[in-house]
Amino acid sequence: MIDRSTIERILEAAQIVDVVQEFVPLKKRGVNYLGLCPFHNEKTPSFTVSPSKEIFKCFGCGKVGNSVNFVMEHEHLTYPEALKYLAKKYHIEVVEKERSPEEVEKQNERESLLVVTGYASRQFSENLFQSDEGISVGLAYFKERGFQQNTLKKFEVGYSLERRDAFSRKALEDGYRQDFLVKTGLTIQHEERIFDRFSGRVMFPIHSLSGQVLGFGGRILRSDPKSAKYLNSPESEIYHKSRILYGIYQARKAITQEDRCFLVEGYTDVMSLHEAEIENVVASSGTSLTQEQVRLIKRFTQNITILYDGDAAGIKASIRGIDIVLEEGMNVKIVLLPDGEDPDSYSKKVSNEEFSKFIKENETDFIRFKTQLLLSEANNDPVRKADLIRDIVKSIAVIPDTITRTIYIKECSTVLEVSEPVLYHEVNKLRQQRSFQERNKYPGPEDLPVPPPQPAKPVQFKTTTLYSEREIIRLLLKFGSDELERKINREDGKEEISTVSDYIVREIVDDDLSFDHMVCAKIFADFRFHTDHGLFAGDKHFVKHEDPEISSLSADLLADSHELSRIWKDKQTYVETEEMKLKEIVPDAVLKFKSDKIIARRKEIMTLLENAVGEGDQEKILALQKRYNTLSVALGLISRKLGNRILL
Ligand SMILES: [Zn+2]
Repeated sequence: MIDRSTIERILEAAQIVDVVQEFVPLKKRGVNYLGLCPFHNEKTPSFTVSPSKEIFKCFGCGKVGNSVNFVMEHEHLTYPEALKYLAKKYHIEVVEKERSPEEVEKQNERESLLVVTGYASRQFSENLFQSDEGISVGLAYFKERGFQQNTLKKFEVGYSLERRDAFSRKALEDGYRQDFLVKTGLTIQHEERIFDRFSGRVMFPIHSLSGQVLGFGGRILRSDPKSAKYLNSPESEIYHKSRILYGIYQARKAITQEDRCFLVEGYTDVMSLHEAEIENVVASSGTSLTQEQVRLIKRFTQNITILYDGDAAGIKASIRGIDIVLEEGMNVKIVLLPDGEDPDSYSKKVSNEEFSKFIKENETDFIRFKTQLLLSEANNDPVRKADLIRDIVKSIAVIPDTITRTIYIKECSTVLEVSEPVLYHEVNKLRQQRSFQERNKYPGPEDLPVPPPQPAKPVQFKTTTLYSEREIIRLLLKFGSDELERKINREDGKEEISTVSDYIVREIVDDDLSFDHMVCAKIFADFRFHTDHGLFAGDKHFVKHEDPEISSLSADLLADSHELSRIWKDKQTYVETEEMKLKEIVPDAVLKFKSDKIIARRKEIMTLLENAVGEGDQEKILALQKRYNTLSVALGLISRKLGNRILL
């Protein structure tokens, strides 16, 4: 955990224009900056950066936020990762909160292991390009496979020398600790002796999203029936094979840009596709795809295309694993390469243009692909066809989106010659089974003792107040410190100035009203705290707030589309108008807020009243009717006030 004061220092230092400009060329336009939005495809710039407000906003896709939000969004980082990124940029030392000794040890161990894998990667690379053995064996292999030097450098491939303990000895000599070498799996310890796990192999480092080396894949070059062709690092504190995808570090930018991720099988497939100018590609390196890996891709895109080599048995085995992708609600397509070709061989056989064209022309929707594949196998055998239908239905049933399921059911009904209702029935049966199983897997609230049945209707009214809540917060953020009224204090004759925030806080607190929207409630509580202490919290305090929900809502409200979109035309007039009319706008917003609250409360009472009528509880009915009437009277008063003001 990063401590609070460090977060504040980072937020203070991070100037929005400076941060954005590293990724997006900006042009000054009036008081703001303008550029092409990095988050959606556009030819005319609608991406605006306001240095005074410390926020960015795109009028094309609606993305908005402060400098941390920008880094999170652009670099696909979590909040703490984005803070660390900015800390590095502004040379701020990150002080982490105190952690338990176990946490410290774990963190230290992780860091030590990463230092070791980073060192190993450099050693292997040095071997490949500089040692005689590396050049004549390792580099010769890559050259023979037709790889270019820049691709080898991009993926930081290397070579582990043939001598059984060459790497481990060198690492110990260079001061690396044996226990860490063993924990990363690079070194194998057998009683007193140590060996290299990867001796005599070309090495493929497996990078994290941020480019750290987590583990390795090694391919043996000599023919040795006793050794596996490919060997991977064992699971460790830093390497979890099910959570990482080979090539994700080199692919992440392209995946976002192309809004699609290609999935291949091997390390060299990934590298070959890069050479064919297709960079949005990752490999699951031999294992079948896991949910964590699918979610990793989902951080960047909803669209995944799997490239298969034309080996039917292999395809049948692996398509079972694809339901996991459908389950995440992603769109899955399949490309079947010509017989006997894998992505590596085929991309080298044809030109880049031909390769891209082939993919484009042969991309098939997964369900369609699976249906056709199984149908051709079933060969009109009725038993096999029944199995096939069950199999397809299973895939359709995991898709979370109802509309997508419906479309597939329609299509499969035609292709399989089975009526739609039958397919619906099967799909729904499976979905019910699944949700039943899931409920029994994790004891959820459903498993708690059931309260006696109540005739209650669902009470849903919270959303109606959202708009007026946001408006109150917007006014607080934008005009909180502006003067609203001046009054002469009758007792001491002194003039008292009350600000917009004094007024709003007083009105809401006095009437004992509260916010339903959680983030609005947090911001209001903060304003109230400041007002109570005679302090003022400026908009920067909120835009640069350490709570990312607060900062992004604040940025959103301050960038109110209304206002920023007019910046280019007549910023002055608009802002002035709003500022000049505060005496009307603020009390109106408060009245609107109050009337929304009353309406919501009245709805709630109406529901309770209907239930009380159902129960025949006379006493309750009378009490509720009374409260309902009181609220109606209050609402009438407010409406008249609002109405009068509108007439003015
Ligand atoms: Zn945009």
